[in-house]
Amino acid sequence: MRLSFIDEEIVALKEKGRYRFLRRLSTPQDARIVIEGEEVLNFSSNNYLGLANHPEVVAALADFAARYGVGAGASRLISGHMDVHAELEEAMARFKGAEACLTFSAGYMANLGILSTLGDSGATIFSDEWNHASIVDGCRLSRARVEVYRHADVTHLEELLRASSARRKIVVTDGVFSMDGDVAPLPDIVEVKDRHGAILVVDDAHATGVLPPGGRGSADAFGLSGRVEILMGTFSKALGTYGAYLCSTRRMVEFFINKCRPFIFNTGLPPAVAGATLASLGILAREPERLKALWDNERLFREEMGARGRRVESDTAIVPILVGSDGDTMAASRALFNRGVFVHGIRPPTVPEGTGRLRLTLMATHTAGMVRTAAERIDEVLRERGIGNDGTVAAKG
Ligand SMILES: *Cc1c(COP(=O)(O)O)cnc(C)c1O
Repeated sequence: MRLSFIDEEIVALKEKGRYRFLRRLSTPQDARIVIEGEEVLNFSSNNYLGLANHPEVVAALADFAARYGVGAGASRLISGHMDVHAELEEAMARFKGAEACLTFSAGYMANLGILSTLGDSGATIFSDEWNHASIVDGCRLSRARVEVYRHADVTHLEELLRASSARRKIVVTDGVFSMDGDVAPLPDIVEVKDRHGAILVVDDAHATGVLPPGGRGSADAFGLSGRVEILMGTFSKALGTYGAYLCSTRRMVEFFINKCRPFIFNTGLPPAVAGATLASLGILAREPERLKALWDNERLFREEMGARGRRVESDTAIVPILVGSDGDTMAASRALFNRGVFVHGIRPPTVPEGTGRLRLTLMATHTAGMVRTAAERIDEVLRERGIGNDGTVAAKG
């Protein structure tokens, strides 16, 4: 009786078509994977540059584990701050053109930390309505008032900033939005936050190692790195490892070391993972052709879809393909899987009601043939279901 609510909730999820379950992968996170025992092309990975299973990154992990052990053994402020953490933080600060860097054990943890530390009781956080769930949860953990502005709507953001009398104002946005792949309008956001004396936090989980010219993130892509107070991002996506960073001034990092609970009370990044991340950064700098291969695949996919009369809205490695209802979305994803192409379906509450979609991601390691196959199969599956460009189902004659 005491636990009957669990059965009820699971039944309700299944009835709504919102039940989630885990799929088993039996290979590295590569362009071709074996998932649920089936070999398929992988178009649902954040391993944008193929670094998650790069031999040099794997060797660095083993090497640093041999030198420092597997776990950090303590939180950073106690005894878990090792040479390799300091080296990684120096390398990241250089890479981002910032004074200093602080690493976290995950992007989720970093966002909880950044927003709860900056957002004290006198503060207001202004957050884009499509920001990542970890930002939403960071806002919840903070003691700040939270105001949500319409997606990428800088006019709305400015209205809210102007109306606010908070003594500390914090604006937070994804750099590349994780479900739609669009880039935040940073030039306008930077101008508006400066006009209203706000601090800007940019989450570059899907921009680091992805956006031109050098994979240094969305602020760098706009030439605005020096004007964003906090550049946050993760190692878990294009860099292929695990963990996250905050790049800012030395003063800001000092503040976080002293005040940020998700940093203070959490064991440091495993040294082996920090070492592997250093290797990833080295490859990213040394092999610009990896980034170029990713952009070539992005362009090729847009062309292939365009040739089939399907518009692609995004100009990053994340491509949303609108389907509509939850049921249609999951059926389309399943039909593609049966034809050897894995593209995950995304449903509410991750995206707004009625905007279920296939969320395709491109990788540098896809061949041109794989990209063409994906476009062809996606078009086939959508056409068979009568799904048009905007996700609407054409009237069946
Ligand atoms: C993935 C992601 C995170 C969380 O990072 P993890 O390292 O996986 O915890 C945070 N923000 C955005 C925008 C993300 O896409």
